[in-house]
Formats: sequence, structure tokens, C-alpha cells
Amino acid sequence: MRMSATVTTPESMELGSWISRRAAIGPDRPAVTYGDSTLTFADFQHRIDCLAAELAAGGISAGDRVAYLGPNHPAFLTTLFACARVGATFVPLNFRLTAPEIAYILDDCGALTLIADAALAPTVDQIRDQTPVRRFIALGDVDGWENYDDLLARAQPIADPAHPAPEDVAVIMYTSGTTGRPKGAMLSHGNLFWNNVNSLLSFDTLSTDITYVSAPLFHIGGLNVTTLVTLQKGGHVVLAPGFDPAAALSAIETHRITTMFGVPAMFLFMSQVPQFQTADLSSLRYLMCGGAPVPEPLMRKYADRGVTFAQGYGLTETAPLALVMGIDESDRKIGAAGNKVLPLSDVRLVDADNAEVPPGQPGEVCVRGPQVMTGYWKNPGATESAIDSEGWFHTGDVGRQDDDGYIYVVDRLKDMVISGGENVYPAEVESVLYSHPAVAEVAILGVPDDKWGQAVTAVVATVPGESVTLDELRDFAAATLARYKLPLRVEFVDALPRNPSGKVLKYRLREQFGAVPTP
Ligand code: AMP
Repeated sequence: MRMSATVTTPESMELGSWISRRAAIGPDRPAVTYGDSTLTFADFQHRIDCLAAELAAGGISAGDRVAYLGPNHPAFLTTLFACARVGATFVPLNFRLTAPEIAYILDDCGALTLIADAALAPTVDQIRDQTPVRRFIALGDVDGWENYDDLLARAQPIADPAHPAPEDVAVIMYTSGTTGRPKGAMLSHGNLFWNNVNSLLSFDTLSTDITYVSAPLFHIGGLNVTTLVTLQKGGHVVLAPGFDPAAALSAIETHRITTMFGVPAMFLFMSQVPQFQTADLSSLRYLMCGGAPVPEPLMRKYADRGVTFAQGYGLTETAPLALVMGIDESDRKIGAAGNKVLPLSDVRLVDADNAEVPPGQPGEVCVRGPQVMTGYWKNPGATESAIDSEGWFHTGDVGRQDDDGYIYVVDRLKDMVISGGENVYPAEVESVLYSHPAVAEVAILGVPDDKWGQAVTAVVATVPGESVTLDELRDFAAATLARYKLPLRVEFVDALPRNPSGKVLKYRLREQFGAVPTP
């Protein structure tokens, strides 16, 4: 029996109700703007329900996976919510992935339907047969694909939407792992809901907010920092297909944008275009930065233009917020990932024996709370090593806490490089470069870089008598790896330093090449 609609009932938490409830209260309010067209909440809900009906008619039911591949577009959000209306799981893919990378994820998650940008259809067609996908839908006319708009135009809204439980998986987001194979983080309806409650209790999202979304929606930062919380609050999302610094500044003026999420590199690029000095930024209430701490000079540049930053630290696996810093001067410490005031979440730092470390000592950042993922898809081993028996999720980030409860990320156990906001896992890049005939040994590091935060740097020992250039390595890897994973620099050594058991001593290489593992 269903209980009345309080926040603890499934109906309130399920993603499928977020827009329908808003559409019931304010049907004519703007929900999503893309280019020159705006969907009101009623329009948006109608499209969601039409797509849900089409998915159901195509055989998609509770628990099935539907994948989406493409740059930011209203269809992304429509598909996300439509999946929830049939109880299916939405799987967004990074559109920069190569055909083999896409094939791996589609196969791993067992997607039955794929909705993709028309420009990406040829890439998918290369690997169609290697996937379990039975239905291909394109945003445009493509041979062998159904047309998304035609399909919506003929559909009737779903009559009897599903009501997934809070623990049912709403989204699987793939993050690369240290083993090189991407892992699917399963985010439940409850995870997404509680992240937003945490966010609403920490930042003052308003129903009058107009948020500019140019960070990729396939990443948890683009999806769930300002986008979903603004929609859930009844605010307005202005969607851009991708990030362009000048376009972002123009959009802020034109749409009177009040909030925007980005990584530091995006805000840096915006500050470097000439119109930054003259753009009317007066509508901005704050900028929301994640992925790395906001560097002090950047904060000052924006402060000079009257703009302030809020900041979040988190991961895909924590949906994403785990630590926050608000916009008040008194609440902020430069260089910190955030403080521990997130209301519905616990954070602690532990040593290798899982014992809590005192302030000042480094320890692995662990997070516990209702926003922590339910586990990795079809990977109980990885889930068990990430979430301990007491429910603490081990982030793989090494932090240090000061006496006021602010946590600084000082290292990454997981060996990850973050370049321009994209995560690059060295093991994945190394395994590709190892098959280059001139490469005897290779290690990937993140070297601090003004533009990208960290530059993917290959340290290479060549096969005796052979040589190779950066461009040759990039060309070689480009067939299998997305562009953002390709090395931006190369350093040559005679041999990689290794410990007696043969493990590469990355810390030695980091010292040698000035690579700090964190921003
Ligand atoms: P992702 O799962 O792609 O969201 O990447 C999460 C990783 O980004 C974390 O494990 C951290 O290493 C890093 N990260 C995110 N936010 C911050 C921040 N505010 N400060 C420092 N590192 C961050």
C-alpha cells in the first residue's frame, strides 16, 4: 500500500516525479532552453511521457538499460526522465569515446536501446554487431536508425508510469578504473534525491534560478550539481551543446544566468577572453566549481568582477557531493576541497588499517551517506573493495584535515590524472602505448599545467635503436583512446625506476618530472 507523499515515500524520491510534480504546480514556467527554443515544464513532461511510452512499446521495462550518446541536448534529459517513468536505468556515455570504448560499455551494461546524436551514428555503426543493442534511435535522419523527433511526434504520453523504489538504479555512470576497464557506478533514485537534499541544505538554489549548463551532462558534475537540483526546484536550465568561453559569457548576459557549474579550467578560459572585462555578470549569484579547488588567482579575478564561487568536492560514486564550501568569505579556505558541513553525509580520513587519523595527518577520504552509490554494475569485487562493511566509501583520495574540519586533497591513491576536468586513468593509456613497437616501457603522469590543471605526460623508455615522437604516440593511441586521454607531453628515460618486485615507482617519476598527483 502506498503511503501519503512525504519525502520518505518512493514517489517523492523517484526521478520520474521530479518534473511531473513541477509541471503540476507551474506548467508554463520555463524548464529547458536550448538554442532558440524553450520547453516549459508542461512541454518537457509531455515529451518525457511520450518517450517513456515509446520505450515501453519497444519492449523496455523495469530494470532494462537505455544508453545515450551525444553532447548536451534536451533529448539527454528527456531520456533520463523517460527511463525513470518506465523504471529503466539510464546509461550516459562520454561522446568523446572511440568505437571500441563505446562497444565495451554498451556490452558491459547490456543496453537494449541506444539514443545517439546523428553525427555519432557512423561511429556506433562500426561496432553495432558487438553490442546487445536492439533499437537505435538518432537525433536526426540516419540510415538504419529511427528518427527521435518522428518517434516523439507520433507517440502518446505513457498512461501508467512505473514507480521505482528509492534503491532501484536510476543511472549507471561509467568511470575508468585503475585496471583500465571502465566500471559502472550504480546511482539509485535515492542517491540522486539525497544528493539534491544535501545540495539544497548547503547552497541556496532558488526556483527563480537560471543555470547555464555547458559542462557535459554525461559526467556527474554536469548532471547533478546545478542541473537536476535546479529543475527539481522548479528553476530553468539553459543548455549548451558544449563549453565555449565566449559563448558562456554571452549566455550569462542574454539569459540573465544566476548559477553555473564548471571545473576550474572552464572558468579560467572564460576569464581569458577579452569580453570577460566588459560582460554584464551582474545576474550571477555564484559560480559552482568542482573537480579541483578554485585557485586563488582565479578567485580574485572573478571577485574583481563581483562574482563569487561556491565549491564542491565529490565523485561519480557519491552522486557527487561529499564536501562543500559556500560562498561566504568566512566559510572558505583557499586550496581546500571543502569542509565537513554537508548535512546528510559523514566524511572521515583513515589510515591503511581503516583507523581514523587525527587532524593534520594524511588519510584516505571516506564518505558515508545516502548519496553513496549502491555499487559497481556487475562487479561485486570492486564494490566490496570500495565500500567497507560499515558503509564507508573509500574515495582513493588522500586528504589532510585541519583543526576547523576543512579537508585538503593532497594525493590520489588511485593514480588518476585530471586534465581539463576529464579523468584519465594511467593504466588505460599505458596499456595502449605499450603496444607501440618503439615503446619498451611507459608510465603516465599528471604534470601541473596552467591550462589543463594537469597535462597527461608519457614517460617513455624506447626499444634500443628505435625512436618515437609525441605526435607519433598520439596518432597511434588515437585509434583506441578518446582525445582527452592522449599524452600532451612526452619525457624520455633509459628505463623506468622499479621496486624489487618490478612495480614502477611512480613517486620517483613524479619527483623527477615535477608531477604533483593532485591540483
Ligand atoms: P569524478 O568521479 O569524475 O567526479 O572524479 C572525482 C575525483 O575528482 C575525486 O576523487 C577527486 O580526486 C577529484 N575532485 C573532485 N572535486 C574536487 C575538489 N573540489 N578538490 C580536489 N579534488 C577534487
